[in-house]
Amino acid sequence: MDIKFNLPSPLQEYSFNKISFLLKRDDLIHPLFSGNKARKIDYLLNTPLDKYDKIVSYGSLFSNAMLSLAIFSKIKNIPFYYLVKNLSKKELLSPKGNLKIALSNGMILKDYRYLQDYLTPNALFIKEGISNKFAYIGVEKLAKELIKELLPNKNYQIFLPSGTGTTSLFLSKALIKLNKKNIKVFTTPVVGDKNYLLEQFRNLEKDSSFYPTILDTSKRYGFGRLYKEFYQIWLELYYQTKVEFDLLYDPKGWITILENSSLFENLVYIHQGGNIGNITMIERYQRRWQL
Ligand SMILES: *Cc1c(COP(=O)(O)O)cnc(C)c1O
Repeated sequence: MDIKFNLPSPLQEYSFNKISFLLKRDDLIHPLFSGNKARKIDYLLNTPLDKYDKIVSYGSLFSNAMLSLAIFSKIKNIPFYYLVKNLSKKELLSPKGNLKIALSNGMILKDYRYLQDYLTPNALFIKEGISNKFAYIGVEKLAKELIKELLPNKNYQIFLPSGTGTTSLFLSKALIKLNKKNIKVFTTPVVGDKNYLLEQFRNLEKDSSFYPTILDTSKRYGFGRLYKEFYQIWLELYYQTKVEFDLLYDPKGWITILENSSLFENLVYIHQGGNIGNITMIERYQRRWQL
């Protein structure tokens, strides 16, 4: 199995609810890598990993990072152990979406309780959501693409929703280090609240001057939970742009933008992928509300 990332990803113009914006199509980098997972893993893809006898990570059974790591491990021909907390879940009986494709590419599922047993000296350990420091290298490439594609003397506001916050933090840091004062990064926490996200930032970077601006919605939303307004804005995005956005992170992202629209003079939205994860999300929505 070989791999080719479609880089640089296209930057396209759209409009949503009368807000015109540029969309960085990281969802088109590779059909099996959620866009920002491709960015985060880019460094490892180009690094010899011969000394490792396994790749170990952990997280949820729906995770986009899980699928990306399964494909990555297969390309590298290294066994991939993925540790989850609820191994007895019924999803295992008829796997779908990310889980189905990850399993069919050789992913080995194990119980999270035994994590320590897998962290042997020759294990390559990847944190949940690929929130490792090495992710900076690939996200810096994204920053450099944007600098090339955007006008040097126009002000831009980049928006991308955060899970671990690795992508938004490193994008903000790379742009500041490259001295691009006309491009500012904004995000919203989708996993946890603002304090949780700040804690994630601190684990990766001490200097808070590199952090993106954190915005939030008036309503609190729980991660991975279903909200009618999420499904509605996701459908509306599709009707207006004909682009399929992600159903886990992007709805909160767009609600944040609409609630803070005065901040966005020239919006650039990063599409971070997640389309295979949508399969199980759509099913859950349909089951809940017969949509
Ligand atoms: C993983 C993921 C995110 C969150 O990325 P972080 O770097 O963890 O903040 C956002 N959107 C999509 C579609 C993802 O797959």
